[in-house]
Amino acid sequence: MTQLRIIDNLGVLATTLRDVALNGETVALVPTMGALHAGHLSLVKRAKAEASRVLVSIFVNPTQFGPNEDLGRYPSTPEADEALLREAGVDFLYRPPVEDIYPPGFATSIYVAGLSETLCGAFRPGHFEGVATVVAKLLMRTLPSCAVFGEKDYQQLCVISQMVDDLDIPVRIIGAPTMREEDGLAMSSRNRYLTPEQRAVAPKLYATLEKTAENIRKKPENLNLILTEAKALLSVAGFTRLDYFEARHAYTLEVIQNPEDPIRLLAAAWIGTTRLIDNVEV
Ligand code: AMP
Repeated sequence: MTQLRIIDNLGVLATTLRDVALNGETVALVPTMGALHAGHLSLVKRAKAEASRVLVSIFVNPTQFGPNEDLGRYPSTPEADEALLREAGVDFLYRPPVEDIYPPGFATSIYVAGLSETLCGAFRPGHFEGVATVVAKLLMRTLPSCAVFGEKDYQQLCVISQMVDDLDIPVRIIGAPTMREEDGLAMSSRNRYLTPEQRAVAPKLYATLEKTAENIRKKPENLNLILTEAKALLSVAGFTRLDYFEARHAYTLEVIQNPEDPIRLLAAAWIGTTRLIDNVEV
């Protein structure tokens, strides 16, 4: 089994990664907020195929949570995370303290216009600014050859790809497919908030996305009607509230203008106090 090196200090991180680079090795970064599951481990697997060393970061980033969101109760399972990463053959686990990422006087923020404003961005003001800023910091601190992100957070993947392009950050951003439970529910650290009754409702989000994608492929000219029907189905399926259920351009996330556009279906729905997001290709 590989020796997992746990690093929480920026100086140690820098010297460790300098030695790795001097050895001619490459590093793939997998940024996470911990409470790891098989979805995260699939990113690790992809990272291992892309570089000689894998670095996983665990940082519950306060700036990406709104004032009434779940920062205070976000799940934390440090021992289990360590064991999973050891077993997965990860080389480095980086766990920076909050005050080290955001020291007093920290004043900079990265805002990716357009992509950050729509869908989740409209319902979670400031969220993608927090994400972009912390990911930029993690990339600058670790200087990986590539970084792997899940398509589960599809809009996040778009925002980060745009940021890296715009700011000439020399890293390859890789998107990896969504890992699902047997009934189709996208794996998420937040699924553990669900009661058994809510857990039974949750997979209907993916089922509806898949069915809707199929209907759009069959009759693209009925797009709006198909979306309206899907939303009605979800509200009777037991979701408390629907933030959005939309067909968007797969790369710009703009509203579909042209029937030839590549389409991604994206949804965010609440069950009680838990907000689930998911998306599928059309
Ligand atoms: P999180 O810890 O939720 O911030 O997620 C860290 C990374 O894991 C992000 O790139 C997510 O998109 C990715 N991820 C989360 N859930 C899944 C999943 N079910 N399948 C694949 N990747 C995922």
